[in-house]
Amino acid sequence: MPARPDVLVLGAGIAGAAVARAAAQRGATVAWVDVRRAGEGATGRNAGFILADGADPYARVAQSQGRDVADALRAAGLATREAVRDLARHHDIGWVPSGSLRLAVDPDEAADLEATADALGLTWLAADRLPAPWRGGPWLGGLVDDGDGAVDPLHLLDAVVAEARRAGAALSEGVRVTRPERDGTRWRVVVGERVIEPAIVVVTASHASGALAPAGTADLRLTAWRAQMLAARVKPTPRAPRPVYARGGHDYLRVLSTGTVLLGGQRDEGGDEERTTDETPGPAVQRALERLLARWFPHAQRRKVIARWAGTMAFTPDGLPLAGAWPGADGLYVLAGLMGHGMGWGLGLGAAVAEAALGGAPAPAVFAPARGGV
Ligand SMILES: Cc1cc2nc3c(=O)[nH]c(=O)nc-3n(C[C@H](O)[C@H](O)[C@H](O)COP(=O)(O)OP(=O)(O)OC[C@H]3O[C@@H](n4cnc5c(N)ncnc54)[C@H](O)[C@@H]3O)c2cc1C
Repeated sequence: MPARPDVLVLGAGIAGAAVARAAAQRGATVAWVDVRRAGEGATGRNAGFILADGADPYARVAQSQGRDVADALRAAGLATREAVRDLARHHDIGWVPSGSLRLAVDPDEAADLEATADALGLTWLAADRLPAPWRGGPWLGGLVDDGDGAVDPLHLLDAVVAEARRAGAALSEGVRVTRPERDGTRWRVVVGERVIEPAIVVVTASHASGALAPAGTADLRLTAWRAQMLAARVKPTPRAPRPVYARGGHDYLRVLSTGTVLLGGQRDEGGDEERTTDETPGPAVQRALERLLARWFPHAQRRKVIARWAGTMAFTPDGLPLAGAWPGADGLYVLAGLMGHGMGWGLGLGAAVAEAALGGAPAPAVFAPARGGV
């Protein structure tokens, strides 16, 4: 690891990998550290959905937060999709270009999804046009975004890490780091036994990013929430080629090519217990997921849970990622608070943050960490 790199990236999930790759490919010397191993956080525990929109579809965001915000989120999603397709040409990342299906559970959600279809030129399916096994269920319709898809999240991360390394980024895993301290025109960070003096630090430590705040800088107001999933065998195997997202992301499902069903969500059934960094599955949400599996596949002859897991997501008060300059500190940047959509937005936002950090165009103002009194 270089002692005086241009950039030091803290965190090796998809956010850190995206920044490290983009910075190294732009010619910067990059040192990169994770206290655990790359992918041990949420990036190695997720469902692999690559969705260009977040929990709220485009039209809902445009109405509640403005067109500029909706466009910026969509742009991050489209840039990420493009990067994923490009990576899939050169790496085995398990990319499934299936499109996605968002199911509407109530009239408000149906109106938002239908308006999103109109605004973006996507396909709205009325309830009687939904594909099996969803037709005849409780849904009021669904939005198909043909450009979305799914990946194997760890394989995607490995591909980004490999490209970052090829461009010269030096990754150290399982190493403790101290908070960055300003020392003249550079930063000073103790990484394991070594002192590293980067010109620029980019913090991508998800919900733990605030703990890396240099003395005297503002808190990032990130909240950690646990997300839980299970894997099941369902007989007969559901024919659901598109990842399915419902109830604003509170329920989601994917059927792998092996036939294994991945089911996640139900965070609202766990209440405040889910506001935790504990990465072990909890009983309330796991029971709720089993009930959801039974509701979604009521006619299955068999439903057998074969695995359960959980991870931690980072949320911001206004539901938008933090991407850009850390308030009150020169040469310090952050990419965190990816709102449970880091696979869908991370590569796009990572490239934007790397560009801003290296003196190029600033990251979109709507994601500025200084907004809203942060
Ligand atoms: C069960 C589950 C399902 C999900 N499904 C999807 C999905 O289908 N699609 C989607 O887009 N998103 C999904 N998400 C969300 C997605 O996984 C996250 O948004 C994304 O992985 C966040 O990436 P990250 O790099 O910000 O965080 P992480 O992947 O959590 O990485 C942060 C890294 O920082 C490291 N770190 C912590 N403290 C320090 C420190 N002091 N110094 C250095 N490193 C540090 C951690 O060890 C960790 O490796 C899901 C999440 C979960 C938990």
